[in-house]
Amino acid sequence: MQVTGWSRGLEVSGGGQGVVSHAGLVLLRQLADKTGLTGGLSRALATPRFLVHDRGRVTADLACAIADGARVISDFRVMTDQQKLFGPVASVPTAWRTLKEIARGGTRADRRVTAAVATARRLAWAQVAARHGALPGVRLADRTLAGVTCIRLDATVTFAHSDKELAEANFKGYGHHPLLAVCDNTGGEPLAWMLRRGSAGSNTAADHLQLLDAAIAAIPPGFRRKLMVTCDGAGASHALVKRLDELAARRGYELTYSVGWALAERERTALQLVPGQAWQAAIDGRGEVRERRADDACANLSCAHRACWIEEAHVTELTGLLRCGPGGDQLRAWPATMRVFARRERPHPGAQLTLFEAGDGWRYSLWATNRPADTRGWLGQAAYIDVAHRVQARVEDAIRTGKDAGLGHFPSFIFSSPVVDLSDLRVCVVDTVVHGLPAVA
Ligand SMILES: [Zn+2]
Repeated sequence: MQVTGWSRGLEVSGGGQGVVSHAGLVLLRQLADKTGLTGGLSRALATPRFLVHDRGRVTADLACAIADGARVISDFRVMTDQQKLFGPVASVPTAWRTLKEIARGGTRADRRVTAAVATARRLAWAQVAARHGALPGVRLADRTLAGVTCIRLDATVTFAHSDKELAEANFKGYGHHPLLAVCDNTGGEPLAWMLRRGSAGSNTAADHLQLLDAAIAAIPPGFRRKLMVTCDGAGASHALVKRLDELAARRGYELTYSVGWALAERERTALQLVPGQAWQAAIDGRGEVRERRADDACANLSCAHRACWIEEAHVTELTGLLRCGPGGDQLRAWPATMRVFARRERPHPGAQLTLFEAGDGWRYSLWATNRPADTRGWLGQAAYIDVAHRVQARVEDAIRTGKDAGLGHFPSFIFSSPVVDLSDLRVCVVDTVVHGLPAVA
């Protein structure tokens, strides 16, 4: 592994004179080395041929360059031009050659690269756990769920400004529609992702299943025993819930899920039957009742008048009404452990409401979960079951960060069979920097 002499005992400070551009990349590159990512990629991509530039080094450097904002492979020059800083760096043609070799390697190369990334993650997580005593817990409003590893699944749209493989027109423009699985404990670290055509569906069950398996495989084995999986939108396909239910039933493992549920006729009927007192106040990110000022509230913004505050959202469980309502068990086809919850919120002025929502003025969101009804303490409360689903919104933060780090601009071409994702490497390296650096450095 190449480490330039001056980088030993490196200290970081803000400001300074004679600053070298892109110098921060050194840290990223060192991290790739210290987590074993570079070495792992070297072994994964080793060939008996004599090579001037080790392919693991080239690939890790490419990942770093993309994290630094490179949009096309030729932007790799940023590093190539700074040999004093980085030591020997491959040329742009060598970078291209490396990528073509990986693409030619087919699924075998793909598997090896994925395994190298997973091994690096195992080391980074072990060091985080060694330093802090455990992996960070899952933040649920004012509480933290410890000892559980949380996977969140979501689809996003990325834009392509030129003609790229798999780019297609979609509901937001022209580009790709990747599906991502991120780990909530480590701040939205990408575990797995699937590059898909621009026109791919948001809730394609087969894609969700494949991504879920890849995400679990990406988690270091010691952290797979207690899982929490959440999926937004109307993600609750039979196939996905069935798979989650099977995973939850394995001996020695625990898995709770929370997946978006569609609001259809049977749910509308059930909602109309919920008695007023069955709706509990929802809580916000601080664990306090979500409320806002009434339209005719007094001038004192911090007053204590009951009439001046309106509870903004409520939660209730619909399982009883759906399973034992007048129409018989309407959830027969679903696992017996599955429960359905609903949240109603006061819509923002001007929000688009369905006819049903316009009828009673609330906006509804539903989700299904297997969190047991007999859970004691705060975790069994509907308000926290709501929060556990709602923090799905944090995925969106993770995706935004990923896009800033390059997820939004793929390399100038994407490899078919297999799709070798530099973005995956890149985001992994970036994320390891954010979460693993204090432990590794
Ligand atoms: Zn008041």
